[in-house]
Amino acid sequence: MTALVIDGKKIAQQLRNDLAQEVKSYSKRPYLAVVWVGDNEASGVYVRNKQKAALETGINCKIYHLAEHTPEQEIISLVQKLNRNSAVDGIIVQLPLPKHVNTRKILETIYSSKDVDAFKAVKVGELWKNIARWSSATPEGVICLLKMVCPSLAGKHAVVIGRSDIVGKPMAAMLLNEDCTVTMTHSKTVDLPTITKMADILVVACGSPKLVKKNWVKKGAVVIDVGISKVDGKLVGDVDFDEVKEVASALTPVPGGVGPMTIAMLLKNTVEAMKKRRKL
Ligand code: NAD
Repeated sequence: MTALVIDGKKIAQQLRNDLAQEVKSYSKRPYLAVVWVGDNEASGVYVRNKQKAALETGINCKIYHLAEHTPEQEIISLVQKLNRNSAVDGIIVQLPLPKHVNTRKILETIYSSKDVDAFKAVKVGELWKNIARWSSATPEGVICLLKMVCPSLAGKHAVVIGRSDIVGKPMAAMLLNEDCTVTMTHSKTVDLPTITKMADILVVACGSPKLVKKNWVKKGAVVIDVGISKVDGKLVGDVDFDEVKEVASALTPVPGGVGPMTIAMLLKNTVEAMKKRRKL
């Protein structure tokens, strides 16, 4: 068996084209504010990519760049100013923040109505109650890819590797909301391959390059690789792609799988936030 390679780049581009059409139909352009503190090189690439994608979709996007040593209170004041600015529809604070800053405190300052990353505790609660209008972008992107290859997710056994607040936990909640039977695993899980081998759907988000091997995967499973690591200057996922493509029925590549979907979903969330605030 050779797996279908799920083309996240193409699917994300289609989503962005559709979103751009929708945005054109509104009298006002959505507005995304991106707060970036410090000079982390990777963060710089991410914020500029988000801005470029937003502008191409017809979404206004401004980067608010603060110096590395900006006091916490100053960052909070900026977020509060953006909260009060009625022109702003969505606010994201690029992570990681510098060490002297309490990340949770900053994220909780964002108004829920503008929290397009959905990292606030209230948004997490809405997701687990299955009443969220939008949720965390990366796992939303994964659900979208899964539905392309597996229209009915109900009853499938989904195994998630990783339990972070931004990927693993919301991923498990979303799969549960799709009526999957969900098993969450993490760095302390004993005998991980025995568990992953039971999965109809395997979502891997642990940041451990090529961890998942062919003998970890059930024949015909759908495997989604969220991981991104740099090894010898090349981007590598958490799944050993060349091995696993021999047993999986469908598989995402890295790069070009989940990554482009994350940005597309963030833009979708910004449009959703605008529609909700403006009762469109
Ligand atoms: P994290 O470090 O916050 O969490 C990693 C999780 O994986 C932890 O829960 C840990 O217990 C688990 N883990 C680590 N090693 C493991 C192992 N050997 N076996 C089982 N579990 C293990 O990371 P994160 O923010 O969730 O990101 C995970 C990966 O996904 C990273 O490579 C990151 O770069 C990538 N990522 C990609 C996107 C995207 O858009 N494609 C978005 C976010 C994160």
